[in-house]
Amino acid sequence: MTTLLSSHPLKTLIKSTALLCGLSLFLPSGAQAEGKLNIYCSVQNTTCEKVAQAFSKKYNVKTQFVRNSTGTVLGKIKTEKDNPQGDIWYGGTLEPHLQAADLGLLEKYRSPNQKDILPIFKDLTEKRGEYTSVIYLMELSMGINSKKLASLNIEPPKCFADLLDPRFKNQIQYADPRVSGTGYSFLIALVSLWGEEKAFDFLAKLNKNIAQYTKSGLATSNLASGEVAVDISFFHTYVREKEKGAPVEGVYPCEGTAYTLGATSIIKGARNLDNAKLFTDWALTPEAQEVHWREADSYQLPANIHAQYYPGMHVPANPKIIDIDFIRFGSNEQSKLLIERWVNGILSNQ
Ligand code: PLP
Repeated sequence: MTTLLSSHPLKTLIKSTALLCGLSLFLPSGAQAEGKLNIYCSVQNTTCEKVAQAFSKKYNVKTQFVRNSTGTVLGKIKTEKDNPQGDIWYGGTLEPHLQAADLGLLEKYRSPNQKDILPIFKDLTEKRGEYTSVIYLMELSMGINSKKLASLNIEPPKCFADLLDPRFKNQIQYADPRVSGTGYSFLIALVSLWGEEKAFDFLAKLNKNIAQYTKSGLATSNLASGEVAVDISFFHTYVREKEKGAPVEGVYPCEGTAYTLGATSIIKGARNLDNAKLFTDWALTPEAQEVHWREADSYQLPANIHAQYYPGMHVPANPKIIDIDFIRFGSNEQSKLLIERWVNGILSNQ
């Protein structure tokens, strides 16, 4: 099992990022490129727009993007295998990128800028960075609408286990792991925490309280509006909803905090390969990684050690980290098994 964070509490990790921020920015050489770049993008739509614009402006490359959830992009790249339409797959959770690499759907490219990855991800990058690069980090948590909970007279949940209370019936949502990287992250967090049997037993019980399985971890507007009282996604999405004025809080579950990484990869057969490599180099710089929070209110933590993170991100003092084996869960075989089990054992009983 790959141990990435077990000896590195999240706090230390983030503090080290903070201390190092502000050091010199490394920008790729290569000056003015031209031509085009087609981006399949799995971050927020506004972030896709800002990132595509910033790269276009800097390198004089005409960029186009299409936004889809991580699992959806994986499906698209599979379908287009013999006639690839995209050059870059930007953002989205790491595991589906690793699955794409396993399936021979990605172009081999190890960016020299991988050297600036946070030290705890160096080992993973050395092992799996030939086809994909890590660009950010996100922690899985529960999001609650405190106003809605108060109106239902329910105490805010502290643990995943609290969500099994029948009073939460039709008040919870999480994302469908077939299409959403967030949904798959939740599945593997539970399997890492409890083992497969107990994890699926929990999900079957939770199923009774689920209002809907969403298409993306970014579908937090239902939580903000109070349509549901609880959502399960990444912590930074709740910080954003709160800042927009919604009565939303992120809660790190008492069982432990799982995290995942965001990735960028070049699609095999990319028609604009040189620009795809240039984009990858740029996506690994602090400049590109800070576009997310500086220009698009998207607060996941950058993976470049020199990048500054959003100052409003609150981090718990001593988070209990759930160790995730990215190599195991990034395998195509493992993900197929888990997702099939979820479809047959959970979704079909909805
Ligand atoms: N990248 C970022 C920055 C996110 O915030 C999220 C989800 O919240 C994802 C990727 C995963 O998105 P999806 O669940 O649509 O695959």
